[in-house]
Amino acid sequence: MSQEDYSGFMVFAEQHDGVIHPVTFELLGKARELAEKKGSKVYAALLGYNVGSLSSELIYYGADRVYVVDSEKLKVFDVMHYKDAFLKVIEKAKPEAILMGATNTGRTLAPRISAALKTGLTADCTDLFIDEKGNFIQVRPAFSGNIFAHIGTKTKPAMATVRYRTFKAIEKDTSRKGEVEKVEYSGPDDTGYKVLEKIPREKVNISDAEVIVAVGKGLKKKEDLKIIEDLAKLLNATVGASRPLVDDDWISRDHQVGFSGNIVKPKIYIAIGISGSPQHTVGMKDSGIVISINKDPNAPIAEYSDYFIVGDLYEVVPKLIEEIKKKKG
Ligand code: FAD
Repeated sequence: MSQEDYSGFMVFAEQHDGVIHPVTFELLGKARELAEKKGSKVYAALLGYNVGSLSSELIYYGADRVYVVDSEKLKVFDVMHYKDAFLKVIEKAKPEAILMGATNTGRTLAPRISAALKTGLTADCTDLFIDEKGNFIQVRPAFSGNIFAHIGTKTKPAMATVRYRTFKAIEKDTSRKGEVEKVEYSGPDDTGYKVLEKIPREKVNISDAEVIVAVGKGLKKKEDLKIIEDLAKLLNATVGASRPLVDDDWISRDHQVGFSGNIVKPKIYIAIGISGSPQHTVGMKDSGIVISINKDPNAPIAEYSDYFIVGDLYEVVPKLIEEIKKKKG
């Protein structure tokens, strides 16, 4: 089969316990745009157990055809089963490119698929487009986010992962029609993978937060996070952080904003003691109103700020808390 025979854009429809991860809808939106440019189709690969009913949702958000692999073996995310089942779908559809969320699931599965197909995988893309020659191009930060590389993949299918909230989903259209095709999967009974226990972890979905109070290395010690948490609580906000705080184990990676953390688009982003490195701002630059507190009037975050308070956070934040408390009565 020649490389030219590959056509269409396939989205891996990530679902957990029957709930589709919203990154899927965003990827379908981008896949529609790409497919329309190429005059090709959008496919979704839906893998799981008792998930068939989710197909229509994928069609409403842009899929022309949904390949469903419904098997008890796909009830939990056993990456060996998921890999083999997904490869079957890919073999059937022969897409030009495969788009996956840069989620834990996507990051676990995508490299295994790309290795099995001996094809290229571009991780954490910030944009995808079709160039004037009709090539599928993947854009991602390189050299610690200081440049944006444009990457084409010679082998097909090309593979890209994209972080949640990078793209916008198209409006849900319940009148959209599409096809559903079932793909059989009968993998081995034992892949060597066993779920021993599920441990619920602190649930922080910073990417969906409407208000974020983020803090950086301006904070002197871990215990001082308390004042940031107090302010966040008063504002019904989620606490965000720059990477050094995560590296120092002051706060979990779920809170990290930026290049190697999460992309956020809140209505209000308050950056406290954060300098505004390119690796940080890449994760928050699409926020609505940005308010910064920094003792350095020349901190680069000023460029991204609608309001910039020059001052010591240890003076400004307690005053802010006091004022908000007064206002709230
Ligand atoms: P600093 O740059 O040290 O800034 C601290 C700021 O606090 C300064 O502007 C200072 O003026 C101010 N300040 C100090 N004391 C006070 C005070 N008392 N009151 C008010 N202001 C005060 N970083 C991220 O954030 N997210 C990422 O995802 C990320 N990914 C990376 C990936 C790679 C591959 C690499 C190489 C780096 C990455 N980084 C990331 C790190 C990034 O380069 C910066 O080092 C980091 O963003 C700096 O964090 P900061 O602004 O908190 O600290």
